[in-house]
Amino acid sequence: MTKKLQEEAFFSRRRTVEVKAGNVCIGGNNPVRVQTMVTSPTSDIEATVNECIKVARAGAELVRITAPTVRDAEALGAIRSELRKRGYGIPLIADIHFNPDVAEIAAKNVEKIRINPGNFTDRQAMLQTGVPDIEQNRESDLLKLRTRFTSLLNICREYRTALRIGSNHGSLSQRIMSKYGDTPAGMVESAMEFLRICREEHFDNVIVSMKASNTVVMVQAYRLLVAAMDAEDMHYPLHLGVTEAGDGEDGRIKSAVGIGSLLADGLGDTIRVSLTEAPENEIPVARELVRHFSALPTVFRRENETADYPCIETAKTSLPGKEVLVISDLSGLNPVYASDIESLGFGTETDSASENPVPDCIYTGSSTLAFDSGNPKIIDDSKDNFILCSHLSLDDSFLRWLKENPEKILAVSFDGAGSIARQRSVFLKLRDSGVVNPVIIVRSYREKDFEKLQIMAACDFGALLIDGFGDGIMLSAECDIPPKSISDLCFRILQAARRRYTRTEYIACPGCGRTLFDLQETLKKVKAATSELKNLKIGVMGCIVNGPGEMADADYGYVGAGPGKITLYKGREAVKKNIPQENAIDELIKLIKEN
Ligand code: SF4
Repeated sequence: MTKKLQEEAFFSRRRTVEVKAGNVCIGGNNPVRVQTMVTSPTSDIEATVNECIKVARAGAELVRITAPTVRDAEALGAIRSELRKRGYGIPLIADIHFNPDVAEIAAKNVEKIRINPGNFTDRQAMLQTGVPDIEQNRESDLLKLRTRFTSLLNICREYRTALRIGSNHGSLSQRIMSKYGDTPAGMVESAMEFLRICREEHFDNVIVSMKASNTVVMVQAYRLLVAAMDAEDMHYPLHLGVTEAGDGEDGRIKSAVGIGSLLADGLGDTIRVSLTEAPENEIPVARELVRHFSALPTVFRRENETADYPCIETAKTSLPGKEVLVISDLSGLNPVYASDIESLGFGTETDSASENPVPDCIYTGSSTLAFDSGNPKIIDDSKDNFILCSHLSLDDSFLRWLKENPEKILAVSFDGAGSIARQRSVFLKLRDSGVVNPVIIVRSYREKDFEKLQIMAACDFGALLIDGFGDGIMLSAECDIPPKSISDLCFRILQAARRRYTRTEYIACPGCGRTLFDLQETLKKVKAATSELKNLKIGVMGCIVNGPGEMADADYGYVGAGPGKITLYKGREAVKKNIPQENAIDELIKLIKEN
């Protein structure tokens, strides 16, 4: 499915129309806008106002508030008035699911509304099953959708309210599912149905999103959407986000890999980093992502490329046979001996303080050490199988030599390569020259702040890894960050890009006014009880309305079913319903053990 790629990188940000949400313009020549979502119950006006002020002070340029009921939609007006009275002009976005009546009220009270095309019309249609019925009802469904949606567009036009059509992996309508399945193509078609109505109704104040917690699905969906919009001459701005990214380092790294890969394509006009933490914690992460890409003079836009690059087939390495290698660079500590390794925290297969394993190899500058079942051993460097070079040294004669020596492992330093576009073009050059040597992606950073380093590295490595480039990564930090933390970061990046799994994955929603329990505390407890269960994906979701669909990828799920009640899922099946919250974590462990 990959079309011909041009080796020469060229640069531009995707051209979009400008959308106005109150006093903030999105798309066009505006900078990438940062937004978040508050978690207080919307009917608690004072708490919601205070939370909005907090995130505005932290730097959010727009703020989303859930509106599950008519009462909540009406409360939005009071929230807006109070904010303006206190001198805060931050535009409000109402988050709507299932109820067009609520959408129509909210559209009068806020600057922007978000609807989910998968569940805009009604809950009944969403729950309908049976393909023949769906086929029979397709036309009437579309007519109903058009009528309700046009009515909403008319209100938006009258009140100058912007609109986001937000497709989510895991919450597509049965009509779309029956034809496309829960796929990026289905997410795109779901949004395109609505965008075509916007076009016909001459309503252009529209933004689109394609979110998923799986970064590969998310990146593919956005790229396919852009291709579909380009084909129909639509230029609506994009809202980027990875849903249910979780908390802490993993939540930040996963968001940076997904959002960063698209920003590197020149896509994205507004972003939200969804963390299961206080909403204001999302802002510095989002701002760092925007800063990282605006620091480049331009970004790469791949012409004629719609979806993903395939994984590039390379020769087998002579190093331990893991999917993608993690190599720790200790050349700055030279000389390093095998006997030093334990004191650096690499002595055992898994360090008790970390869920991540030891790196596969250690590069010392003069030799490479490989781990064999957790014990470091020196690779015979007389074989010179690990060649460290700059991307600039890949000239024709070197490429010819590599073709004759396919067992050599090429560690290519991309320092100074500039944009990810240039780095992609190096891989394409190798591929087009018929070079099949394994490639280790090498980058070094001077950044001293570990949180910033995490985001930068997740963007830079992630954007290549997610497209299938690279057989290993080596991250060098020219500062005092411990080597073990650096190698942990590498493993987390590989997992976020879905190239190598070494730890339990948590799919946790950020929470909103629908949340039925203390999400942050619960996620911590679930993590503490399950972090040993490698290769599992566990969902922790605040409500039964959106939770089960949106943790689409999870093996097991812990979902708020009602006040004090939890429903546990195995895959997509609810296996223990409405159990008391106090026992729910024990029951989850029991369920996993039983299976
Ligand atoms: S899944 Fe979480 S963030 Fe989504 S609507 Fe439910 S509580 Fe809110």
